[in-house]
Amino acid sequence: MAAIWFHQGCSKDDLSAVAEEGLRRIAARIGRDIYVVSTGGGLHQIDSLHYTGMAFDIWPNYAGTRIAASSIRQVLGTDWDIVENTEKGYIHCEYDPKN
Ligand SMILES: [Zn+2]
Repeated sequence: MAAIWFHQGCSKDDLSAVAEEGLRRIAARIGRDIYVVSTGGGLHQIDSLHYTGMAFDIWPNYAGTRIAASSIRQVLGTDWDIVENTEKGYIHCEYDPKN
């Protein structure tokens, strides 16, 4: 059973229900432990969805960021924006439905 780990200083309490559900779907479908490195804390752009609990950052230890991001896109679908940060090695996921 894949677990969801939260890096020191970030908590699932900062996530909305929909974001938490997204994390659970990723862990279940990928079948690997998921490391969340940012939720609502830390430094983000002022209008960042992190502050509304609709975004989280994942550090994919199981694959490179490009491969991990494309599999997360498949799991979460088009209501989510998935952005790779190849420099820092994490993937930003935010719930931002366009309709
Ligand atoms: Zn982010």
